[in-house]
Amino acid sequence: MRIVQKFGGTSVGSLERIRATADLVEAELARGNQIAVVVSAMSGETNRLIGMATEMDATPCEREIDALVATGEQVSAALLAIELQHRGIRAYSYNGAQAGVTTSGDYKRARIKSISCAHLQNHLQAGEVPVVTGFQGVDEQGNITTLGRGGSDTSAVALAVAVEADVCDIYTDVDGIYTTDPRIVSKARKMEQISYEEMLEMASLGAKVLQTRSVEMAMRYNMPIHLRSSFENITGTMVVKEDDTMERAAISGVAYNRDEAKITILGIPDHPGIAANVFGPVAEAGINVDVIVQNVSAQGFTDITFTVPRSDYPATMKLMRDLCTSLHGRDVQGDDGVAKVSVIGVGMRSHAGVAKTMFDALAAEGVNIQMITTSEIKITVVIEEKYVELAVRSLHTAFALDAIPDEH
Ligand code: ADP
Ligand code: ASP
Ligand code: MG
Repeated sequence: MRIVQKFGGTSVGSLERIRATADLVEAELARGNQIAVVVSAMSGETNRLIGMATEMDATPCEREIDALVATGEQVSAALLAIELQHRGIRAYSYNGAQAGVTTSGDYKRARIKSISCAHLQNHLQAGEVPVVTGFQGVDEQGNITTLGRGGSDTSAVALAVAVEADVCDIYTDVDGIYTTDPRIVSKARKMEQISYEEMLEMASLGAKVLQTRSVEMAMRYNMPIHLRSSFENITGTMVVKEDDTMERAAISGVAYNRDEAKITILGIPDHPGIAANVFGPVAEAGINVDVIVQNVSAQGFTDITFTVPRSDYPATMKLMRDLCTSLHGRDVQGDDGVAKVSVIGVGMRSHAGVAKTMFDALAAEGVNIQMITTSEIKITVVIEEKYVELAVRSLHTAFALDAIPDEH
């Protein structure tokens, strides 16, 4: 088999962990597999580097941020290659540019355009191990770019597609994908497998276990992902194409995202083009709008409420205040203490009453719902952030997702 093994921050977080990671590479080689490796920076390193930059300047140049944070992955790639070589394995570290990863020029959120990896394929065929830095590439001008937080997952899947691997093994600090974040719900249940579609929703709604774009790419190219632990040698969770053998509970997971802020622009004229007026400037500023609700109009005026990532809250508030003035609107209100909680499941297509169960469970805990949005396979509510854990736990129980307690 040809396998791309990706190791996250905790799997390369110390020299001891790098040695343990080298054990996992060595074990796969011993089974006769061809191995390419993708690594993250040592845990905490990306944050440490960003912290230094913002100490210098509160809004540092994005090009330099990318140049800075890309160094984190180079350290772990080189250290792992050194450890593998020490064991007599022919391993070679490559940074994004050396690996041939070309991206768009959007610093901090670049997208991979292509990977020219003939040299990596040669290593694989020769039984050698290329160790590639995750999270980074270069744009067409040769500037260093990064793929957004958690981007090493996407690097790994992209490399797996490029070298035509059989599977992309993503090693992390949990032993699989759970029905919800096992760090906040102790009764979360590990899944044997999950469909790309559901994982895509889980990731985009806040389950940071895989970067959303890595799942998008795996789905597009039908690349199986095996999410597993680098601490324990046990089978993890397979992210694969939906098939008939999968469980068909109404809900398969609960996700949350604290990184949300809500803005309402009140009393603006209700005529065609008004939503375009509101969201045009936000889009131009590169800000992602998420949940949107427009009120029924009264006397020719309406209100629009929407959410944005919390880090974009100050900039969006300013844009909306300016817009409100120019449209002679009534007021702009904002709240950066909200969060999003979602229930997800392809089974929702064939089960009625999911919304009622969800709203009943939240009401029973006294959690007020501020906004609601649905799609075919998810229901999302916006609530006060302080209720997130309570909401996630109560939904997990309400949809019968809690693990059955161990007998021993
Ligand atoms: P890495 O550094 O290896 O990329 P991450 O911290 O990015 O690791 O992702 C692993 C974390 O994802 C886990 O520690 C866990 O807290 C979190 N997580 C969130 N939702 C889930 C979920 N549904 N299943 C498993 N882990 C989850
Ligand atoms: N080191 C980067 C981050 O912390 C990329 C990754 O770990 O996937 O976001
Ligand atoms: Mg990650």
